[in-house]
Amino acid sequence: MNNMQEDRSGFLRDEMVDTQLIARGIRDPKVLKAFRKVPRHLCVPANIQDAAYDDCALPIGEGQTISQPYMVAIMTELLELTGKETILEIGAGSGYQAAILCELARKVISVERVKTLADRASNKLKELGYQNFEVVVGNGAKGYKKQAPYDRILVTAAADKIPQSLIDQLKEGGKLIIPVGNPYFQTLTIIEKIKGEIVTTESIGCVFVPLIDD
Ligand code: SAH
Repeated sequence: MNNMQEDRSGFLRDEMVDTQLIARGIRDPKVLKAFRKVPRHLCVPANIQDAAYDDCALPIGEGQTISQPYMVAIMTELLELTGKETILEIGAGSGYQAAILCELARKVISVERVKTLADRASNKLKELGYQNFEVVVGNGAKGYKKQAPYDRILVTAAADKIPQSLIDQLKEGGKLIIPVGNPYFQTLTIIEKIKGEIVTTESIGCVFVPLIDD
């Protein structure tokens, strides 16, 4: 991409942050800064790059999608990151959410069940210069025991119920965010482990592709 196109993508990113994120109440300056920086257009298939900063989810192949920018932003803000966390993401998809998290946390481990997507996301994150991540191929509904427990767990696919393994792999004081509901509509659900107790709060409605537990 030449300089002029780079300028244009920067302009579109700022516009996305102003009109889609700030306008809807995203406030965390560090989150906004990450969204102004990460090149979303490089995380979508080349033939739809022009639509990368539109206010919607987009197809990324294998029947999967990159979430709408606002959805990525609200989930990121709800994680309340300080920069010290180890995060488990379920559903690497395009790698865009993982790139945002790499900007804001110490380490990101992203589990993806489709190998072609996992390989692509991993190469993309490398190409973007991140070193604080791992993409793992596997069934994230079971979590990823090897590096558990986690400060934060973010599920970017729709679950019909909260997988117990994910609750088990969450640190004391940690936070798990997961869309819970039926295949057509879910509620963004926040689970916190406070002094051994599980505290559940509900956020906005959302629509994600299904979390496939196989
Ligand atoms: N976070 C992604 C969006 C992912 S879409 C992004 O920023 O682009 C949801 C992803 O979850 C898809 O890639 C799908 O293949 C993956 N997925 C679905 N069920 C899964 C499971 N059980 N384990 C790991 N990945 C899963």
